[in-house]
Amino acid sequence: MANTNTKPGRFTKTIIIVITSVLGLLLVLTSALMLDRYKTEISTRSSQAAMYNTLLIENSLDDRLLNYVEKAIEIASTIDDGIDKVDLYLDTFVGTTSVNEIKFNRYFDKDGVLHNTNATLYDGNEDLALEYYKNHKDTAGYIGTFEDNKILIDGTMSVIGFYAPVKNSSTVSGIVNYYPRQCLIEMFNDVNKNDSSDFTVICTKSGKILAGIDTTEGSQLYNKLRSMMAEKDAVDKVVNLVQEGKTDIVSTTIDGYEYIISVGSNSNKTIDLSIVEMYDVQVLYSSSFDFIQAIIAIIIIFAIILVVLVIYFLMNNYSMKKKIFNMETNDITLNCLNRFGFEKEAKKILDSNKGSYFAIIDVQVKHFKHLVENNNATIITNLLQYLKVTCQKTVGIEECYGHIEGGEFLLLLHAKDRDDLIERLMTHAVIAKLFNGGISSQVLLRYGVYEYKQEEVLTISQMINFAFEANTTQANSTLEHAGMNYNFYSDELRQIRLINESMELRMEEALRTGEFQIFYQPKYNLVKNKQDGAEALVRWYDKEKDVYNLPALFMALFESNGFIVKLDKYVFLKVCEYINYAISKGKPVYPVSVNISRVTAVQPDFVEYYTKLKKKYHISDGMIMIEFTESFAYENYEVLLDIVNKLHAAGFYCSIDDFGCGYSSYRILKTLPMDEIKLDKFFLEKGTSEERDNYIFTSIIGLAKQLHMKVTQEGVETKEELQKIRDLGCDVVQGYYYSKPIGLNDYLHF
Ligand code: C2E
Ligand code: MG
Ligand code: MG
Repeated sequence: MANTNTKPGRFTKTIIIVITSVLGLLLVLTSALMLDRYKTEISTRSSQAAMYNTLLIENSLDDRLLNYVEKAIEIASTIDDGIDKVDLYLDTFVGTTSVNEIKFNRYFDKDGVLHNTNATLYDGNEDLALEYYKNHKDTAGYIGTFEDNKILIDGTMSVIGFYAPVKNSSTVSGIVNYYPRQCLIEMFNDVNKNDSSDFTVICTKSGKILAGIDTTEGSQLYNKLRSMMAEKDAVDKVVNLVQEGKTDIVSTTIDGYEYIISVGSNSNKTIDLSIVEMYDVQVLYSSSFDFIQAIIAIIIIFAIILVVLVIYFLMNNYSMKKKIFNMETNDITLNCLNRFGFEKEAKKILDSNKGSYFAIIDVQVKHFKHLVENNNATIITNLLQYLKVTCQKTVGIEECYGHIEGGEFLLLLHAKDRDDLIERLMTHAVIAKLFNGGISSQVLLRYGVYEYKQEEVLTISQMINFAFEANTTQANSTLEHAGMNYNFYSDELRQIRLINESMELRMEEALRTGEFQIFYQPKYNLVKNKQDGAEALVRWYDKEKDVYNLPALFMALFESNGFIVKLDKYVFLKVCEYINYAISKGKPVYPVSVNISRVTAVQPDFVEYYTKLKKKYHISDGMIMIEFTESFAYENYEVLLDIVNKLHAAGFYCSIDDFGCGYSSYRILKTLPMDEIKLDKFFLEKGTSEERDNYIFTSIIGLAKQLHMKVTQEGVETKEELQKIRDLGCDVVQGYYYSKPIGLNDYLHF
């Protein structure tokens, strides 16, 4: 079945996120706008409603007060010259049973003099009546409400008065009926009973409260409002409206709630009073307001949740991307840069640092596979961790390191020059070698160096590849220093790589077709003055060029690709065949030294195979000497010791080749029961402190001899050299002075 990708693509995801975010934001904005508009709407409508209520109250109150005016007109119409005593006549209208009855009366004569009646003993302020008469003596109406204490009747009640002109009398021009103010309050309560306001008062222009719910009669509107409202401005506005006899509303907030104060004053009407009411806006529109608010709240919450979800999703996505990015650039197990991360970091550094000597170095643990096979996982993990820290400590500012995989690391270092760099690498290698986490053999490193050019055209990745090539190409240019190798990338190296590749293609075939041939280099015993044996040295015959290629061309390659195991075994087989043949032909036979690569030596079947072959060809004990290099001994004392013991048991002799180039000659002598040491050719070269070197070697040779080891000098080319080593106490020589390595036929006749 075809693998269909059901996950939304990156683009689709982004679109979804953008749309949701925009929608969420729009939702929040519209909700907020709606709420705002709705609030404005509510407050406008509330204002209208409040005003309407107030005017309604005012109108009905006005209607009722008109009745009293009409009553006054009616009484006035009954007065004519037929009535003798007007005061007594008016007293007949006075009642005492209800608040709606006239309490007392006044009348004006034709001269405008105000007259008392007998119904009351009142002698107080008549200003309102006089004032009214002065201005409207021909019009009936409400004269006002007395605010003065003097008007109080029976000590508890003030009054309101209504005027009506008298038309049919020659002595009386108008009358005034006074009613207890309680009648106004009752009227007010009656018209106000269905009102939803929190507070309603009726007051005079000067702000005196005449009647009202929950308020003391006679108190000041200003004080009353101030006791309820914090906003002084609003109070002032209300009081001004009342004073100016206007009709309007004032908004205010009390304890966070919105209130509307409506003032209804209509001076054109019968009464010159104002009605002041206070409405809670939420009460006015409570249910709908709550409902809408709840809906809007839900929408807002929903939108917020949406936005939060989107943000969460984005953050999650971001942190995932960050994690993925980290995984892209980081080695999770070692917690350092991986190759990709190293490339990025190195690029950053190199881009900003043109002109310095920089090098990219491929660092590899030698024989890492072997270490992994022979040590448990924890040791290897600790080793890698240790190497990571070693790299970490090696790099400074403007340098970096990374881990590729297994025992392979990368370094970007800058230095004064090549020598300075090599010194740093050596320090690095020495620190790496100090690892002692119970590992089976010493940790040795190899370095492939790519030197950054001034006008570099390669990418970091290509430079890494070249550093790797320098590290893995088996070439003579590879330098060794105390078990550490380093090699610099060069065009020749490239060439060598190509040659290596072609050799790798041909080697198996070459082994089958006998292109590998064994040369023998005779050794001469200076003490016994006779031939001591020979060393078998392999050559690769090139048919086309008719030349014998030396091991230097292919040995390192075969060691790295493992082919050396087959080749060593082949050489040994040929040597066995030769000895067997020579014996069968009754020819004189001398012991033969056979070189063994470290790779061959660590093969599990190594001793077994050599022993089997030795038996098969009936090679007698002591006829074959196995040569191990000093560097191998140096790396694997324990392993080699075991091998040597087994080889001895099987009748082989063992030799240490290239003795003296390493640093642990004494230790080798001390630990390994070798039969021979072969002094390296370099020992013949004249050093700076020849005397000193000679002294050291004389003592080593002396020591070796005491340990019954034969001492052979290789590479002896001249008589002088022969003389020198003879003086130093060497037993056997091998070299061009005596004989070059020669083919089997030549050797048989040697
Ligand atoms: P080696 O085992 O140290 O062999 C001695 C090398 O010195 C030989 O080089 C030999 O030709 C060279 N030599 C001998 N006398 C003189 C002299 O007077 N002057 C100079 N300049 N050189 C001299 P060769 O044959 O090229 O071999 C190089 C190395 O290759 C050997 O060094 C040995 O380590 C390795 N090798 C040779 N054959 C085999 C083999 O069959 N198996 C293994 N594993 N390694 C081998
Ligand atoms: Mg040798
Ligand atoms: Mg040698």
